[in-house]
Amino acid sequence: MIRLFAICLILRIGCVNAQQKALVNTDKSKYAKLSSIDMGNVTWTNGFWADRFKVCRDTMIPNLWRIYTDPKISHAYRNFEIAAGLDTGSHEGPPFHDGDFYKLFEAVASMYASTHDPKLDALMDKTIAVIAKAQRADGYIHTPTIIEERKSSGKEKAFNDRLNFETYNLGHLMTAACVHYRATGKTSMLKLAIKATDYLYNFYKTASPELARNAICPSHYMGVVEMYRTTHDSKYLELAKNLINIRGLMENGTDDNQDRIPFRQQTQAMGHAVRANYLFAGAADVYAETGDTTLIHTLNLMWNDVVNRKMYITGGCGALYDGVSPDGISYNPNDVQKVHQAYGRDYQLPNFTAHNETCANIGNVLWNWRMLQVTGDAKYADVMELALYNSVLSGISLSGRDFLYTNPLSYSDELPFSQRWSKDRVGYIKLSNCCPPNVVRTISEVSDYAYSVSDKGLWFNLYGGNTLSAKLKDGTPVKLTQTTNYPWDGKVSIRLDEVPENKAFSLFLRMPGWCKGASIKLAGQSVPQLNTTPGAYTEITAVWQKGMTIELNLPMPVTMMEANPLVEETRNQVAVKRGPVVYCLESADLVKGQKVFDIALSAQNELKPEMIMIDNSPIMSLTGKADVRDESKWENRLYQPVVSSQKNATNIRLVPYYAWGNRGHVDMETWIPLDR
Ligand SMILES: [Zn+2]
Repeated sequence: MIRLFAICLILRIGCVNAQQKALVNTDKSKYAKLSSIDMGNVTWTNGFWADRFKVCRDTMIPNLWRIYTDPKISHAYRNFEIAAGLDTGSHEGPPFHDGDFYKLFEAVASMYASTHDPKLDALMDKTIAVIAKAQRADGYIHTPTIIEERKSSGKEKAFNDRLNFETYNLGHLMTAACVHYRATGKTSMLKLAIKATDYLYNFYKTASPELARNAICPSHYMGVVEMYRTTHDSKYLELAKNLINIRGLMENGTDDNQDRIPFRQQTQAMGHAVRANYLFAGAADVYAETGDTTLIHTLNLMWNDVVNRKMYITGGCGALYDGVSPDGISYNPNDVQKVHQAYGRDYQLPNFTAHNETCANIGNVLWNWRMLQVTGDAKYADVMELALYNSVLSGISLSGRDFLYTNPLSYSDELPFSQRWSKDRVGYIKLSNCCPPNVVRTISEVSDYAYSVSDKGLWFNLYGGNTLSAKLKDGTPVKLTQTTNYPWDGKVSIRLDEVPENKAFSLFLRMPGWCKGASIKLAGQSVPQLNTTPGAYTEITAVWQKGMTIELNLPMPVTMMEANPLVEETRNQVAVKRGPVVYCLESADLVKGQKVFDIALSAQNELKPEMIMIDNSPIMSLTGKADVRDESKWENRLYQPVVSSQKNATNIRLVPYYAWGNRGHVDMETWIPLDR
């Protein structure tokens, strides 16, 4: 015990205790209402997430690790070996390659937390030794710079270019190190991250104002705060606060880099969507520690703007490939800035050309998770769940081997232009492989989002077949078994396997925002007096008995959705949703000769769920009738008088949006014309 304390003192870290092994550790965060359970507390047993988790464990992680350590495909690991002096050559790949490798490392660490596979542990030990050798004595680590320094070429200097990705890479090092420490109890990676964070702290203390404003995609806000939560070193919190304060003090800031105006003066979500969502997630982390109301004020403005005017029905973020910003704010054409991969105007949500980078959609999850932890408000869990099931999972194939960078809501081979980034999933996204390790780490970590704890009890955020073995906030153990086929079915059965004796505590069951008429049975008895308002947590307080069951029924009828009429691209079209899952129509399900454009749905459609298998994964499809129209006579015309074309009934099948493109190259649409 004394020795353990001494080690903790030397490393300035809080020793891992039962409540501090969470992925995002808000256990001691004064302004967070909820804290997370420890990594490894949830074991997926059956159903949707058990299936995705198995593919993650058996295919996604091994496959991506093979790619990242094969210099013929990806130079990510080789760059570290060269920077460590273990190999010769030059840096290859994008400047954010280090960060991508850290994200993959984080996926391995979080997988280890669930599986305790010694092979993963050994793999991480070996990797950490190489990263340690690559790190400069002063803590700086960014392989493009370090490799050139080794060669004394003078080509690269630290923080030479404000649009370089050094801080992004450092941020992912910090996050990966915290996850590794919490998963393994080992401090080897954390020591490197402490050196790197100290370097960043000292850099910001002494850098010129111009240099200090260097920072692109801000993963480091989340990283620095997590380092504070791990080490309790107050200077890291000081650094995190400072990073927000200096942002936007640029004279030549841009919306593309989220630094045109100070964060606290922002009133709308603009510019690069990944960078925006990462910034928002980081600012929520700083709020959780400081309670700075000016931060939550801006975060609320951003959330309302994104959710009510700029987010796709899939939870996707970033409508534009390229655009200009501020759009309509300045009348001086010289002030108009180019942006890319960005939020568009209010209600500007095109379908074919939706950018929706997988990383932006993951950023939406990271942000909403933190907002949920801060507030306990179920509206954030709704958005998190929406993005997870739709625009995040769409970024990876069912096989776990192929990836999408962008997530359009429609695709057609008839479009006479090709867009950047493949619309078929590919094994390696050349130039920009940021999304694959990001989506893989996210799937590895979904179990960490399933539950939270507060002073009052246990919170159910995401449903799925699992067993939980965790501790309540006061340290008393709780174990339960959750049995469900969610999201394909709304029945959730919870059996309490171990509960504190003679002690009342609350279970908070999340009623999804889309769910009307939810009902709850306790020990087989209906409890109609329980309030099951959609979009809120239902609190049930009791002295719970071991073996007691709670049955939740969340009706999930097939629902035809329409968009606000100001979304001009979806006028007179419907999207089909069932529970949290958005559906789409693929040419793979049409009769030969039919096109997705030809299909029209009636608003009174009675589509029926039907389980099918796609690429070895069970998928709930929806089948029913639609009208097929003859839309093929357009030839090369742009306009024509309305033709009341002959309509014929046809059988159709819709598949979940996330599963599109898993049956070869297809045309696809999410918004389907209403029958007229
Ligand atoms: Zn990405």
